[in-house]
Amino acid sequence: MKQCGGTNASWRHRCCVGLAFALACVCASGTTIPESYPRAQAAIHALQLGAAIERGLGPLTPAVPALFGARGAIAWQRLLGGAEHALGNYDLAEAHWLQAQRLALAYGDVGTAAEILELRGEQAAVSDYARTERISNELAQLAERARLPSAHADAEYFLGIVDRRHGRLDSATAHTQRALEAATALGDRRDMARALSFLGLIARDRGDYATAFDMEMRTLAIRERLGVDLAGTLRNLALICLDLGDDNLTRKYFTRAIETAASHGDSLDYSSALGTYSSWLADIGEYQAALAAADEALLLARALDNKPAVGFDLFDAGRALTGLKRPDEARERLVEALAIGRQLKQHEIITRSQLALAENAYAAGDIAQSRSLLDEISADSSAMQFKPMLAAVYALADKLAVAQGNLALALDYAHKRSTLRDELLNTRSSRALALLESQYERAEAEHKLAQMTLDNQQQAAQLAQRQAQRNRGLALIVMLTMVLGLLAWRFSSVRKLNRELGMRNAQVEAQRTALSDANTRLQQQADELFQAAIRDPLTGIANRGHLLRQLDARRVECARDNCELATLLIDFDHFKQINDRHGHQFGDRVLVAGANALCDQLGAGDIVGRYGGEEFIVATSVRDAAQARQLAERLRARVAAALAELLPDDPDATTISIGIALLSRMPASARLEELIEAADKAVYAAKNAGRNRVVVHAA
Ligand code: GH3
Ligand code: MG
Ligand code: MG
Repeated sequence: MKQCGGTNASWRHRCCVGLAFALACVCASGTTIPESYPRAQAAIHALQLGAAIERGLGPLTPAVPALFGARGAIAWQRLLGGAEHALGNYDLAEAHWLQAQRLALAYGDVGTAAEILELRGEQAAVSDYARTERISNELAQLAERARLPSAHADAEYFLGIVDRRHGRLDSATAHTQRALEAATALGDRRDMARALSFLGLIARDRGDYATAFDMEMRTLAIRERLGVDLAGTLRNLALICLDLGDDNLTRKYFTRAIETAASHGDSLDYSSALGTYSSWLADIGEYQAALAAADEALLLARALDNKPAVGFDLFDAGRALTGLKRPDEARERLVEALAIGRQLKQHEIITRSQLALAENAYAAGDIAQSRSLLDEISADSSAMQFKPMLAAVYALADKLAVAQGNLALALDYAHKRSTLRDELLNTRSSRALALLESQYERAEAEHKLAQMTLDNQQQAAQLAQRQAQRNRGLALIVMLTMVLGLLAWRFSSVRKLNRELGMRNAQVEAQRTALSDANTRLQQQADELFQAAIRDPLTGIANRGHLLRQLDARRVECARDNCELATLLIDFDHFKQINDRHGHQFGDRVLVAGANALCDQLGAGDIVGRYGGEEFIVATSVRDAAQARQLAERLRARVAAALAELLPDDPDATTISIGIALLSRMPASARLEELIEAADKAVYAAKNAGRNRVVVHAA
């Protein structure tokens, strides 16, 4: 059983330490802790881990109800609360549990709400008595309404704690007794041990050490079997042995308590064992060790924000400093402890700090201040219930009366003190006997224990199941954190890939545009090249090659369709002379103007081109020779008119002669050359007939 608990605890410990270390590397926020307190360092790292879990898993919370329903949302909040509690983040644990409780109530699950209230109560009872009281009342109401006996037992137990803290010892006993009865009826051994231990604490407050010791031994027997909460019991036993004046037993139990808390317990167990140990070390005069223990406990209590523990630890540090003859530093700590005690309305801290301050003032020779503090303590009737305290009050009152010269009063106090001492000594001697008896009973109980293996194994299995559940919870949190990290990593890499893809797309788009521009330029150049290949560069009309290809194709077409085609060969008259008279460039202008005039008179279906030099060919479909002649005459007149504009002084110098060949008058087998030759002959005839005229080639 112990082994099982130990394995789980060390698993959890390793898990937390590992994560805490990883996070400590990441977290920039760091409370500086002296290296000599590794335990305090680990506790503070655990707190930082809790905060990191909160940041990491918090964003998932809104999605939980949608995914897993109301039950899932309750379990989720409860799980987070449990994890934060395990890491010592009590405020965050409280917030999650409160949320889980509200959800459970809204869902109508009163049983779960009560279970969560119990968790909250147990946590609050460590330091926040006002909240503990509120939770107790809420739990009592819930227990009443839904008839939940275990919730009823918890409410009684918490009310007992609140009453003890306020010095109402009778009422505290009654509540705790009822809690014990309820837990016994339910067979809940853990809650039984809890109530027994608390009854022991109250008995100790009353100076009833026999009962106190007995209760704690019974608690220890149960808790050793369950393997839980051992550190607290061992600490309480140490305190009782302390009161009984048995230094050996006190040291033994304190050492075991601190060892158990360091290996199995949480930071809270460790801090409280250390704090009480410091108090005892001061009692037996080991002030230096007492101060070191109090300082470490104080550091932890402040990190855990456990105000009552801070108060007690300050008080213990103050006492140790008094012992070390450092009264000013001592007073500083004690004053702060008193302020915390008053803020929390914690009688034990208030009265013990006041007494220590009164002793401090007496040692400094400030009798009036010492007197006034002592009067304040004496006026508090609940404080006077603590018998060891009362003895210390009488001792100081005695000294003060002597210092003030009031010997009658001093005698009175000395008398009271001796009566009380007798009472305490009596108790002590009878309790020493009871202690032996208890130890004997315990040996017997342990013997019985060996025979109860079956029961033990069952308990161990239950415990292992509970711990496995807790471990699964922690593993789930770690897993979710990793999944979250993985998702974030995936998201960022997908975003990076998308960015790169976008850049590549832009590059491809730019290259595509450049290619399209190049294609357009290439097409333009091809067009230009083609035009250059078929055009006459001077006049811009078809060149000889293109002209002859067009003409031949038309000839074949017309021969096939049996329609008439007129081929007009046009020759400029006396062109050599124009060149000679006006220059070659002027001759070029004449050729361009002539070609333009020809084009003006022709339609889209007509063929026109430069045959060579100052000779042009026009080919067009006509009905007959008359229509061909008519067109030729029109061309001759238009060209003459255009050229006359260039040479207004010599209008007759620029004329053309036209020879016409008709396809119908050619033999059926005639080729292109023969057609052109016929037109050439007709031109020749026109020249011979005096130029500036049209001649149609006869058959
Ligand atoms: P005819 O009336 O008998 O046809 O007399 P002609 O002078 O026109 O005939 P000929 O064949 O003797 O002369 C043609 C002239 O055309 C010769 C040549 O210098 C000129 N010529 C040919 N091509 C071009 C050209 O591209 N530009 C210019 N300015 N003159 C050209
Ligand atoms: Mg010629
Ligand atoms: Mg000519």
